[in-house]
Amino acid sequence: MKVFFLLLIVSFVVVFQSNAQYVNTDELVIVPGKEEPVSLAEYGKIQKQQNEQYQSFLAGFLVPGNGGKVISDFGPRSGRMHYGTDIKMERGDTVFAVNDGSITRAGWGSGFGNIMIIQHANNIETYYAHLSKFLMKEGEYVKKGEAIALAGSTGRARGSHLHFEIREEGRAFDPELVFDFGRQEIREDALNFENLVALHRTLKPKGYSNNAAIPEYYKVRSGDSLWVISRKFKTPIKDLCRLNNITENSVLQIGQPLKMY
Ligand SMILES: [Zn+2]
Repeated sequence: MKVFFLLLIVSFVVVFQSNAQYVNTDELVIVPGKEEPVSLAEYGKIQKQQNEQYQSFLAGFLVPGNGGKVISDFGPRSGRMHYGTDIKMERGDTVFAVNDGSITRAGWGSGFGNIMIIQHANNIETYYAHLSKFLMKEGEYVKKGEAIALAGSTGRARGSHLHFEIREEGRAFDPELVFDFGRQEIREDALNFENLVALHRTLKPKGYSNNAAIPEYYKVRSGDSLWVISRKFKTPIKDLCRLNNITENSVLQIGQPLKMY
């Protein structure tokens, strides 16, 4: 009788607690993708693994090489826009794919010299320029961290270095928003972001001053013309006309906002 009461109390406690926070680890749970139901304890493990595996898209990137010294930033440079980050690399240093993707270009580009472009998921592309040698061909699929080329100084390059760009839907963003080349890792601020537009919008007010990505709207200044603006942002005049519903002969007003993309 005593034992019976004891059991009753124990089972009462168990039932009572399971309504609160107690988890009965013998309970079975159906997990999508698993044929057999699993115990709650196993389910907890699976969830933990999934959480550990999940990282934002940008957090999954790697730096493109072992060179850590940035020798030229993204941004306007002697009247022209520099759309990438120049990283010091010696001729023959290995350049790595920063993420999985397909090589959409491996050839000669004016100014770029030998350039490779990789198309990744989320409409993101990376550019690797001034290469001395390609290790992979156009059309091939690369895995993150794979050696794709050797650094060099082909094209318009002062000294051997890697010109590296990251673009989303064709728009160039400051690679240093994502990559901390000095520390050879992804910047902490970028770890929870899936795309570059959102990252840029978040970091810009935090004082990232030299990431002058093309603004969504550009305010016309004194001395500007469609030609000047087109050259400054490497956006064709016909695109500016189409976006702003103007013609090549339209007169621009100072302060007038122009849609850039
Ligand atoms: Zn460059």
